[in-house]
Amino acid sequence: MNHVFTNVSIFDGSGSPPFPGELRVEGNRITEVVRSPAQVSRDAAVVIDGGAGVLMPGLVEAHAHLTWPTSVEKFVPGMYLPPEELALTAARNARILLDHGFTSAYSAGSLSKKLEISLNEHLVSGGLPGPRLIPSSVEREPPNETALDPGHVAEHARGAEGMREFVKECAEIGAKAVKFLISGESALKPGASLELLYSEDELMAAGEQARLSGVWLTGHAHAAQAVKLGVKAGFRVLYHCTYADDEAIEMLASHKDEIFVAPTIGIVQATLDASPPPHFDMSNMKADAAIVLERQKALVPKLRARGVKLLPGGDYGFPFNPNGRNAWDLELWVRHLGYSPAEALHAATALGGELMGMGHELGQLRSGFLADLLLVAGDPTEDVRVLQDKRNLKAIMKDGAFHKTPGAAS
Ligand SMILES: [Zn+2]
Repeated sequence: MNHVFTNVSIFDGSGSPPFPGELRVEGNRITEVVRSPAQVSRDAAVVIDGGAGVLMPGLVEAHAHLTWPTSVEKFVPGMYLPPEELALTAARNARILLDHGFTSAYSAGSLSKKLEISLNEHLVSGGLPGPRLIPSSVEREPPNETALDPGHVAEHARGAEGMREFVKECAEIGAKAVKFLISGESALKPGASLELLYSEDELMAAGEQARLSGVWLTGHAHAAQAVKLGVKAGFRVLYHCTYADDEAIEMLASHKDEIFVAPTIGIVQATLDASPPPHFDMSNMKADAAIVLERQKALVPKLRARGVKLLPGGDYGFPFNPNGRNAWDLELWVRHLGYSPAEALHAATALGGELMGMGHELGQLRSGFLADLLLVAGDPTEDVRVLQDKRNLKAIMKDGAFHKTPGAAS
């Protein structure tokens, strides 16, 4: 079916201000975008009056954890769920992200080896609602006694050979991304963010195998050395980068065409804001988050000035940072990182399309691009917070089909 959107302001994802215009969708592609008073062809199309709302590209979450259990619809204390429940929860979280305007998601790791891969088959076939997904295998750190993540379901052997085996296996079962904790996490174990968890040999072997097997590597990297080794090993995405020093910043800058950085500010602010029950001590986490926030506020402008591609995405899915609240990240980018709303939206749409490996056809409202779009009541380029209330999303279209039809009850 063809669709025409009229009486809308179009934010095309480039970062330029919205302009009054019209947009036509044929099948799953945008075929015309014009500025008023020009009109698009209405031939064989359903015409949708946008009610003077803003039409914009669907959002991209750069650090998605669909298997992290908590969402805005369901609080889950802790991280562990039995496998059956984990599968249903992940499917539900996929729908929740799409309900909140996220038409794409890049996985930052799963709690199960194969779950996101089979979930993605259902998402692609149209059997379940959810975003376009880069599915990941289980998030990995080296086997150890005080494991930082609750995955524990797929260990790998140490050494270059162990890494090659693991990456190869993930690729063979259908993962598109493989996540490693290159350095630890101080929020969970004081001081761990500065500890390297893998050797240079291991990381280089993982990188080599990833290129051979055609998968992307995704890294949790706080320590400066973790960032440097991540760049050197050819990781596609590096999260956090908190302690990046001048040399690490230069390395990121010299690979700016092939690497993406997501500071994950959402989890940091959520940690600072959380008021946990008395039996749950978050004092270490909060002390660490305060340091991380200050460092990110200093780091992000430096990376940005050097042209490094930075993306919103905030590690949602923890009990105090639920899946579905992902658009909150944009507010934090404006509040803490020196972005205007339109700049934050550009990062979450156009750069998001590039992160998904589809920059030539995803993340912007341009003729020939895939029809992933949102009709918003209110102007997110004036105030990004309008995107946090899903009732303001009057229509959600993914791949040319409405997930939320205009006029449907919120
Ligand atoms: Zn994460």
